[in-house]
Amino acid sequence: MGIFSIFKSKGKDEVNEQKLSDSLEKTKTSFFSKITKALVGKTTVDDEFLDELEEILLSSDVGIETTVKIINRLEKRVSKEKYFNSSEVMSILKDEIIQLLSEHEGINSEEFEFPENVKPYIIMIVGVNGVGKTTTIGKLAYQFKLMNKEVFVGAGDTFRAAAVDQLKIWGERAGVHVVSRGMGSDPASVAFDTVSSAVAKNADIVILDTAGRLHNKINLMAELEKVDRVIKKVIPDAPHETVLVLDASTGQNAIEQAKQFIKATKVNTLAITKLDGTAKGGVVLGIVDQFKVPVKYIGVGEKIEDLQLFDKKQFVESLFNQ
Ligand code: GDP
Ligand code: GDP
Ligand code: MG
Repeated sequence: MGIFSIFKSKGKDEVNEQKLSDSLEKTKTSFFSKITKALVGKTTVDDEFLDELEEILLSSDVGIETTVKIINRLEKRVSKEKYFNSSEVMSILKDEIIQLLSEHEGINSEEFEFPENVKPYIIMIVGVNGVGKTTTIGKLAYQFKLMNKEVFVGAGDTFRAAAVDQLKIWGERAGVHVVSRGMGSDPASVAFDTVSSAVAKNADIVILDTAGRLHNKINLMAELEKVDRVIKKVIPDAPHETVLVLDASTGQNAIEQAKQFIKATKVNTLAITKLDGTAKGGVVLGIVDQFKVPVKYIGVGEKIEDLQLFDKKQFVESLFNQ
């Protein structure tokens, strides 16, 4: 059976769910097998189990605040005397985590969509070095290209030597236009040129790359502010999406970065990358729970098709799905 018949026999959603589930393998192993072990021989949700669960959640990078909330919810839901088998406990725990996350804003769109009446739709990508900004841009551009959209990408990380070339390679793979002025040029003017060209060509989408490191943090934030300001000269209500990219494999550092960027920039969307190959996928629960800014995209691999729209319920289901 060739690859095409696999795709035919399984729908796109199923393929995506399988991919998500596979990419969470390490997190599942470290997180949920530990819970299963903690439940062995137990017939009630007692203090000992709750203590162990707390430790497991913390060691899986869920973060202290969210861990406490999950434990409290579980305690409220189950009476300590009542008998539970382990699959019942797992199912209640899953349910409580889904409930907790559903109290927070989400995107929950099924497709890579954007408002039809906004043209061009401007997406600005920010985040520290190495988190996966350029890769995510390549993947996003590819998704929009699949929808037959005209995409312009701006090579705004002019600080690092290889960054412009790397974006050009992704641009070629995705089949989209890359606007660049080379290394060392002013990122704000790259943004200006990219947005202006997109307007002139009646393009649908612009995705702007930015640098993740300057001489210091204040310089970086000032530069992002300047890029934002220059984009507004062309399209006053742009950027429509400012996406902060966070690397799941950095665990609590990702939470720290989110705090700083959300405070200093106009981030309105989050992307969490590298869920594959890390045991720290639990950090996604903490990020959703702690920030008002919704998670929209997740990176589940290094290939161009390895970007998914984040769905809270599906994510938690995947974590518990053995
Ligand atoms: P940037 O500095 O923020 O632009 O980060 P890059 O896009 O250059 O990515 C840094 C590294 O992370 C590269 O080696 C990418 O292949 C890798 N990367 C990005 N996203 C993912 C992902 O979802 N999964 C995995 N496994 N690697 C990723
Ligand atoms: P400043 O450098 O702090 O004065 O920031 P500005 O907001 O004036 O512009 C930043 C950069 O964006 C400039 O260096 C220009 O390259 C570019 N830019 C801003 N406005 C325009 C414009 O009207 N036309 C063109 N071609 N570039 C512009
Ligand atoms: Mg980059």
